[in-house]
Amino acid sequence: MDVTPKTADAAQQLVDVGRRFDARNWVLGTSGNFSVVVARDPLRLLMTRSGLSKGALTADGFLEIDGAATAIHPVDGRPSAEALLHLEIVNAREAGAVLHTHSIWSTMLSDRHASAHGLAIANYEMLKGLAGVWTHEHREWLPILENDQDMPRLAAHVRQELHDHPACHGFLLRRHGLYTWGKTLPDAVRHVEILEFLLEAVGRMER
Ligand SMILES: [Zn+2]
Repeated sequence: MDVTPKTADAAQQLVDVGRRFDARNWVLGTSGNFSVVVARDPLRLLMTRSGLSKGALTADGFLEIDGAATAIHPVDGRPSAEALLHLEIVNAREAGAVLHTHSIWSTMLSDRHASAHGLAIANYEMLKGLAGVWTHEHREWLPILENDQDMPRLAAHVRQELHDHPACHGFLLRRHGLYTWGKTLPDAVRHVEILEFLLEAVGRMER
């Protein structure tokens, strides 16, 4: 059964998420973007409009797009170029929500570990906050992709990484930020909190 949230409910939830993430300095200066699947067949995503401060979102700060990233409501709305990345994730992972943040730690660690094309995080209790992880004896591989302003090209790269790393709960764009997702919006929010916590812990302990 389809359990996607109603559009108005999803918008209100994303307004709250924006305030929380802004308070943590994860979406400064209009950075980041959020989406929630509000229908599956045909696919519809409610997504933040570009250029808005995520700490001060209102109900009209969103756009409904279809599976080709075309604006459905309002029809003259311009979806964020990064909508293509959200769609890749939704399609590859059957995600109900996708969240993208720009924290200091994701920015720094995505550069420091870029030559390894990823960052391994293992043996932390907080890993148990990731869906399907039941023990701290888990090794999470967070792929790192080169940043790219050519979104169709970056979307193809994202599709390949998600295929190559079927167990990953998120990925980093180099010197840019974190993408993660969840079956529901609360799951995706939890993944941001867990991954940002782990990135900060790893970053502070590295020399
Ligand atoms: Zn970004």
